[in-house]
Amino acid sequence: MPPPTSPSLSPSSSNDPLAPDAKLTPAMRQYARFKQKHPDCVLIFRMGDFYEMFYDDAVRASKALGLTLTQRTEGVPMAGVPYHQKETYLRRMLAAGFRVAVCEQIQDPAEAKGVVARAVTQVLTPGTLVDDDLVTPDAVRTLAAGFLDRDRAALAIVDAGSGAFHLAESDARGVGDLLARFGVGELLLPDADDPAIASVESAAQASGVSLTRRPAWQFRAAEACEALREQFGVASLGAFGLREDEPAARAAGAVVRYLRETQTPMSEDDRRQWGALPATLAHLRPPRRDDPAGRCVLDAVSLRSLEIERTMRDGQSDGSLVGLFAGACRSAMGRRALRDWLCMPLADADAIGARHAAVTGLVDDRRLAGELGPVLEDSADLPRIAGRLALGRATPRDVVALGRTLERVPALLDLIEPVAGLRAVHDALAPLRAGLGALGGSITTRCVDAPPAHLREGGLFRDGVDDELDECRTLQRDAGAWLSAYQARLASELDLPSLKVGYNRVFGYYIELPAAQARRAPEQLIRKQTLKNAERYITPELGEFERKVTTAEARSLAREQQMFAALCAQCAAQLDEVQRAGDALATLDALLAFADRAHARGWVRPEIVADAERCVLEITQGRHPVLEASLADRFVPNDLSLGSVGDSAGTLALITGPNMAGKSTFIRQVALVTLLAQAGSFVPAERARLSVADRICTRVGADDALHRGQSTFMVEMTETASILHHATDRSLVILDEIGRGTSTLDGLSLAWAIAEHVATIGARSLFATHYHELTELAERLPGRVTNLHVAVREWTGRSGESEVVFLHRILPGRTDKSYGIHVARLAGLPDGVVRRAREVLEALEREHAGAARAASAAPPALRSNAGASQRDQLSLFTEYVPHPALARLREVKLEALSPLQAFDLLRELRAEAEPGV
Ligand code: ADP
Ligand code: MG
Repeated sequence: MPPPTSPSLSPSSSNDPLAPDAKLTPAMRQYARFKQKHPDCVLIFRMGDFYEMFYDDAVRASKALGLTLTQRTEGVPMAGVPYHQKETYLRRMLAAGFRVAVCEQIQDPAEAKGVVARAVTQVLTPGTLVDDDLVTPDAVRTLAAGFLDRDRAALAIVDAGSGAFHLAESDARGVGDLLARFGVGELLLPDADDPAIASVESAAQASGVSLTRRPAWQFRAAEACEALREQFGVASLGAFGLREDEPAARAAGAVVRYLRETQTPMSEDDRRQWGALPATLAHLRPPRRDDPAGRCVLDAVSLRSLEIERTMRDGQSDGSLVGLFAGACRSAMGRRALRDWLCMPLADADAIGARHAAVTGLVDDRRLAGELGPVLEDSADLPRIAGRLALGRATPRDVVALGRTLERVPALLDLIEPVAGLRAVHDALAPLRAGLGALGGSITTRCVDAPPAHLREGGLFRDGVDDELDECRTLQRDAGAWLSAYQARLASELDLPSLKVGYNRVFGYYIELPAAQARRAPEQLIRKQTLKNAERYITPELGEFERKVTTAEARSLAREQQMFAALCAQCAAQLDEVQRAGDALATLDALLAFADRAHARGWVRPEIVADAERCVLEITQGRHPVLEASLADRFVPNDLSLGSVGDSAGTLALITGPNMAGKSTFIRQVALVTLLAQAGSFVPAERARLSVADRICTRVGADDALHRGQSTFMVEMTETASILHHATDRSLVILDEIGRGTSTLDGLSLAWAIAEHVATIGARSLFATHYHELTELAERLPGRVTNLHVAVREWTGRSGESEVVFLHRILPGRTDKSYGIHVARLAGLPDGVVRRAREVLEALEREHAGAARAASAAPPALRSNAGASQRDQLSLFTEYVPHPALARLREVKLEALSPLQAFDLLRELRAEAEPGV
């Protein structure tokens, strides 16, 4: 097969690394070959003590990393980094958004005939990092492949480190939500000219996901299934409940191919030559379909606006919900599990109840919790170690940590056995007890407690576990003692008291006699060197010793490598058990974090109401989980009762109140309490009762959101539209100042219509708004809409000015004052301006009152009509805008009109006043 040529580089270009060029050195020809295989990567090419980059790679990398750009030969730009700083530079290159292929010398240059053998040993991409020094252990950063079939999209999502493998589906517009929920860092899409793919691509780009186009054939049903069957050794995909031609299977096949290419780029022959452990994708779990019915859906916008993973202000984990628990987790695997639980809460009452029961067990039994903590803290990151074992990238420290962790499994099982709530964790671990305990024991008895980071220096295995290794080490350590013993023995045997055994770098070991005694040297001493005053000899015994000592170091290293490979193979044989133990420990850690927070903060177990007919949401003295920590006892708890149940006031609560009163805090806290409950956690409240929500949708009006670039109002409406499409009567909808991004009247009208729609859906909803007019909805939709407001205390201060204090307390009923002027004064607006604003307000209020009297003269039947006509709603706003016809009339200069013009105008005005006539 002829090598493919890169279309971006013309063959005649002198800067073209791929151009066949007889003048290239053999090394550069090698380089060109690898570069051709990895055209989209920056290729770092080991040459002696440096990793070199050439051509465009060198130019780009030198810019991004501040390296000096040199020229290898004329016209060949080159930049390099010292080999021992590889990790540092890899990290920086990945952070700069590069994909990197690492090309190593896989042969000792001294042994090479001609050019040294090289191979690409690693391909690093944003979604496929597995080494601990390249990836943050806490972070969930998965790889996904996406396939679109008309409006349906399927994603296959893999955590390359742990091997977790999920399949999820949605409509094309929901892809962004899936990417956010699964923490996708890199998305593979077929390289096809398709507008649907392009739109997914831009959605992904907007959320910072790195994109990789892959050949379209890898997504074809036949090729994709072949990859899957081969990977999992199954005859048909029925084993995974997949049809061969369905989109999910095609995405899954493509992701497997990509993993193979990036994770195991070397042939086994090359690996052997390089002395590396075998590499497989054995850690990849069978693909599991995401069950949308069992999940409470959080879309990408809600994840962001509820600050689940990071805050809106600075994008940090500190201050987010995940951040709140991160400190309570003992292990990175626990933190990752917890992140998934909070981003993908449950919607199955039994599953939720099981987690609550487990947390209850750990809250009630503090002694047990206290004993579990240190065990989990000391636990290794089993899922990721399992991954590195499969990929042949495990380090001595990985294996020792694995051993120590596994050895504790039996004791851990005994600890949790009596706790009813932890039965599921116990039952998952129990069958692994014997197998993993034995593996753990065999590791810890053979390996030292504090192993070296790399096996380069040796020193992983204990003394006494291997005869050959012991012999080598004894030789190295005891060379001095052996030599002096040998010298003493020889001196007395031969009766040559001046005999000495010595060593020199050129001649090695020797026996030395003063010239005077040299005559008496017996035959067994073989002459080696004559000095001025002495003779030097060697014996077969000393020669043998010398050979052993000088090779002992190399031999012990080789022996340790051999033993390490065998140990890794032994661990890899129990990969599945290690992974299952990892899942169980991660679960336990996440549960313990929930329990510890609940205990420390006085949270309660929420009651999940299973009634399928009616939805409730009742919270007594609820708090905001993040703010309650920073405000401590200054935080004011609040109650809420929402639902379709008789005595509850309705499903939609409108919350009015001045700026800074606490509206946003309150509605977010309700969302977070619901989310926590469904993630399996206790909640910050005195009591909470709720039916399971199928979705939690949150939208924040333009002013509160931090959108850049796009029209903020457009964003706000797009996001709201998605809620209106997806919300059901089992959802929880949180709307914060929707409609604010446009002019008052537009905004008010939209807010009104949206609120009405949400109330009609019957979703439990909270709508914070500064449009007081909306509170009329409560009268129009009685039993569905209820008004709440935030209490404010007002009094006349010493200066005679009226003062307000925000009580942050939510009370029933509406408010009709916005206190904007008070807030402005608090913010330090000059007194004169504040006074003037107050005058204007009073004037406006007088006018307003007049208009309101006129409006209330409307027929009562119309006003309470739930399906109020459009015209009726509009009447609400007439107090703000005169009819446009009126405005035109006022401006007419009568004296300047001819009778004919006057007639025309009259006709236009009438048409305007009565559309449709
Ligand atoms: P709004 O949305 O009504 O403008 P916010 O919810 O943004 O008000 O709250 C403004 C500030 O008031 C918050 O930053 C917080 O410091 C404080 N606050 C809000 N709710 C409470 C509460 N329940 N207890 C104590 N302080 C609160
Ligand atoms: Mg607000």
